[in-house]
Amino acid sequence: MAKKALIIGSGLGGLSTALRLSYQGYNVEILEQHHTPGGRLNTLKKDDFTFDVGPSFFSMSYEFRELFDSIGEPIPFELNELNPLYTVNIQGRDRVYHIYKDLDRLAKEFESIESDFESKARKYLKRAGEVFHDTEYRIIKKNFNGILHYLLSMSTVPKKHLPKMFRSFWAELERNFESEDVKIIFSLVAFFLGATPFNTPSVYNLLNYTELQHDGYWNVKGGMYKIVEGISGLLEKKGVKITLNTRVTTVNTQNGKVVSVTDANGLSHTADLFVVNADAAAFRGQFLGRKKYAEPKLDKLEWTLAPFTIYLGVKGRIDGIAHHNYFLGNNFRQYADTIFRSEVAPEKPYYYVNVASKSNPECAPPDCENLFILCPVPDMRVKPDWSDAGKLADEIIQDLGERVNYDIAGNIISKTVYTPVEWASMFSLYKGSGLGLAHGMKQIGALRPANKDEEMNNLYYVGASTHPGTGLPIVVIGSKLVTERINNEHPVI
Ligand SMILES: Cc1cc2nc3c(=O)[nH]c(=O)nc-3n(C[C@H](O)[C@H](O)[C@H](O)COP(=O)(O)OP(=O)(O)OC[C@H]3O[C@@H](n4cnc5c(N)ncnc54)[C@H](O)[C@@H]3O)c2cc1C
Repeated sequence: MAKKALIIGSGLGGLSTALRLSYQGYNVEILEQHHTPGGRLNTLKKDDFTFDVGPSFFSMSYEFRELFDSIGEPIPFELNELNPLYTVNIQGRDRVYHIYKDLDRLAKEFESIESDFESKARKYLKRAGEVFHDTEYRIIKKNFNGILHYLLSMSTVPKKHLPKMFRSFWAELERNFESEDVKIIFSLVAFFLGATPFNTPSVYNLLNYTELQHDGYWNVKGGMYKIVEGISGLLEKKGVKITLNTRVTTVNTQNGKVVSVTDANGLSHTADLFVVNADAAAFRGQFLGRKKYAEPKLDKLEWTLAPFTIYLGVKGRIDGIAHHNYFLGNNFRQYADTIFRSEVAPEKPYYYVNVASKSNPECAPPDCENLFILCPVPDMRVKPDWSDAGKLADEIIQDLGERVNYDIAGNIISKTVYTPVEWASMFSLYKGSGLGLAHGMKQIGALRPANKDEEMNNLYYVGASTHPGTGLPIVVIGSKLVTERINNEHPVI
């Protein structure tokens, strides 16, 4: 009989692992605590508006193609390439920067602030591309059997990249560009890795290569949740049951194996193997009692910033804004230094706005816009009290209205705010950290919580806080890696 795999959590990592395993013949079931599948990749339908709750775009779209190719199915949603990738509004500048994938166009955008931008950018992106291609199969898309294996793989990465491990992201940009604005714009991506560009290793400049040259940015026609709907449809076809509103509370083990898990209603669920899509570090501490991941130790790890998100349905068309936009203040370095450590909500916050209705009109009623605003804030280790959420939301809405020259506050039809407290409770994100464990050199490869449990022979992990890391295409790669391990260690029959 086919082996049964029970997946705890229906985030993208859990769903894509379920797809791969079910198409290989495993008997798969998913338990999910939330009332909808998708985890952070979720949807909110309210007052005739449809919002993407978390992710709004992604790079490395070919990882989705690989996923569906691997199961012999056409991709069940329509990819939509973004160009410009995004706009950047910096406080006090008399212009908005449009960031194009196409370098000649981007050069025109920057010609007045950075001389010879195009040739500098080509040189910078060439080097960033070399780091990407030299680590893609040696580090990112590889399972490690312990630290030694990881170090051996690292030793095969060409030595010329070594200085980049000791230099900061920002220092690398300073070697290539003079304009402060160009450096600020190219360094924004560092915040998604869980640190500031001033303390993120320069190797991660490779992300600018993946975005600006390699594959660009993509979203999905009809909204990002089409990914979850598409995968869920295929899972249904394969007979995979997703049981919602079911939180796993206990893991029952015997002789080095997990035999079952118990949910909050006291029901027991047995299987031959188990895949945890909840946070791989926190789960080990909270459900398996591992000392290495007890709360004080978890608190000492580096976590990505928490999300403060606002979902606005607004009457009227807002012309002064594009689909993806960053709104920054004029104190970048100081902001970066304090944002991870401040116990109070940021003053003059930096934020990102996605207006899905610009390219998906069906997400909003006629002549309305739906706005998703994301302001990265300190996690709940630093700022546990969010009773001031209303004030921060009002400040952001006011600031945005002034900067796009539209009375947003006066035209709100629908408004929802999620603080890190809601994010933590909806999806069990550790202390509200939005993207899970950060990606400093001490938390990647075999130094990240592994995708195979240290003690239980039939327990695996997939998702943002295990190898290779966070972000939609990266957790899809993670699903491939964990499936390979399962295939080797627990073949389907
Ligand atoms: C606001 C925001 C914006 C983002 N934007 C982007 C973006 O634009 N592009 C991008 O690539 N990435 C983005 N990300 C990151 C991306 O969302 C994540 O890296 C990715 O979705 C993580 O997927 P995952 O597989 O780890 O699962 P998760 O989304 O973490 O899902 C895990 C699931 O497990 C469930 N679960 C947990 N514990 C239990 C339990 N005990 N019992 C049952 N179920 C349980 C949770 O409810 C959840 O549904 C964003 C994240 C956030 C928060």
